[in-house]
Amino acid sequence: KLHNTILELKGNIRVFCRVRPLLPDESCSTEGKIFSYPTSMEACGRGIDLAQNGQKHSFTFDKVFAPEASQEEVFVEISQLVQSALDGYKVCIFAYGQTGSGKTYTMMGRPGHPEEKGLIPRSLEQIFQTKQSQQPQGWKYEMQVSMLEIYNETIRDLLSTTRQENGTPGKQYTIKHDTSGNTHVSDLTVVDVQSAREVAFLLNQAANSRSVGKTQMNEQSSRSHFVFTLRIYGVNESTEQQVQGVLNLIDLAGSERLSKSGSTGDRLKETQAINKSLSSLSDVIFALAKKEDHVPFRNSKLTYLLQPCLGGDSKTLMFVNISPDPSSLGESLCSLRFASRVN
Ligand code: ADP
Ligand code: MG
Repeated sequence: KLHNTILELKGNIRVFCRVRPLLPDESCSTEGKIFSYPTSMEACGRGIDLAQNGQKHSFTFDKVFAPEASQEEVFVEISQLVQSALDGYKVCIFAYGQTGSGKTYTMMGRPGHPEEKGLIPRSLEQIFQTKQSQQPQGWKYEMQVSMLEIYNETIRDLLSTTRQENGTPGKQYTIKHDTSGNTHVSDLTVVDVQSAREVAFLLNQAANSRSVGKTQMNEQSSRSHFVFTLRIYGVNESTEQQVQGVLNLIDLAGSERLSKSGSTGDRLKETQAINKSLSSLSDVIFALAKKEDHVPFRNSKLTYLLQPCLGGDSKTLMFVNISPDPSSLGESLCSLRFASRVN
C-alpha cells in the first residue's frame, strides 16, 4: 500500500489537464499555435500556456496531457488511484470542460473503437483482474454498480428497467448518508456485478437512457451530470480483514457559458442548473483543499450525493478537458481558471 502513502503526502485533490487533438473537421488553426508544451510528449509536463490577444496565460497542474496522449497513457496515470478503491478508499474522478472538449471520450472512449476505450472500461477491467489475482490470498470481493444522472437538479436512475419521465410519482431518489459514511439513494437500481463485461452491458444500457440535447456547439451535448458508482466490499477469509471502497466516475455536464450556447427557455433553465452545480462543486473542492471548517456540500445535488466520497481521507481527481480549437479559447481559459482554483 505504499502508493497510498505517496498520494496522501501529495494531498487528496489533484487536477490533470487534457488537451484533445484537433478533429478532422476542425480546420487546422490558421492563427498559429495557441498551445505550447514541453518538447517531450511523454505527458510528463505540468504546465500549459495559452495566449489570448497577445497576452500569455500560464497554468500548472499535477499533470498535463498533450493531444497526442493515448487513452492508455492517461489510464496509466490513474490506475493506482483506481486500485486504492480496492484497498478501501473512496475515490472520485471527474471530467470537467465545455461541450466537445473530450470529457466523454476520456471517461468512456470512442464508440466502436475498443482500442480507444476510456477510463471507465479500463478501470473496471483492472478492478476485476485484481479481484481475480487476489483470490489466492483469501480475498473475496462483492461489487455493486449504480448509474444515475443529475439533470436540472433532479436524479434520474439510468439502470431502471421502467422508463421514467421527469417527476415519476413514487420515485423520490432521496439521498441519505448513514453514520458509517455510506450513501443510499432511495429507489435507485443497484446491480450486483461479477465481471467487467456485465458492467459494460449496463453502461450501454445507461448511455441509451441519458438525456441529450441540441446546442449550437454539439448536437449530442450532454446537459446532465453522469455519475457511475462502483461499490466494493472486500473480505479476507483467512485474516477476516474487511474493506469497503467506492469508485465514482463522473462525466460532468458541459461548462460552457450561457451566451455561447444561445440558451432560451428550457435550455436556459438547464444552463442555470448546470452553472449552479458546477460552481457548487468548485466551492466544495476549494473549501476541502483549503481545509475550511464549513464545506457547502448541500448547495447542489451532485455535491450532496458525493459528500462522503469528497471529504475525509477520500481521493479526488479532476480532469479538465480542453479543446485546441482557437474559437474555444475563451472557454478554455475559463476551464483552466476553474481548475486552477480547485488545484
Ligand atoms: P464532451 O463529452 O466533452 O462533449 P466528447 O468526448 O464527445 O466531448 O469529444 C468531442 C469529440 O472529440 C468526439 O468526437 C470525440 O471522439 C473526439 N475526441 C475527444 N477527445 C479526443 C482524443 N483525445 N482523441 C481523439 N478524439 C477525441
Ligand atoms: Mg459528453
